Amino acid sequence: MTTYSCECGMGVSGLNCSKCGSELNYELITKPDGSTVGVSICPTGCGKIKSPMCCGSDMVASHNHD
Ligand SMILES: [Zn+2]
Ligand SMILES: [Zn+2]
Repeated sequence: MTTYSCECGMGVSGLNCSKCGSELNYELITKPDGSTVGVSICPTGCGKIKSPMCCGSDMVASHNHD
């Protein structure tokens, strides 16, 4: 499960695709201008969304593999 958190204490745990039910995978994409943006991608190819934001910036994603 991927947990998104902000330094203010806000957190989001496990985003799921409403279409297929799969958990979205977090990926950091580098844009042409060199900046990076976090996105959450459906592993089955339904699409991707902007990663959750809080306090004006991307929330930090941490992966828990178990
Ligand atoms: Zn999906
Ligand atoms: Zn925050």
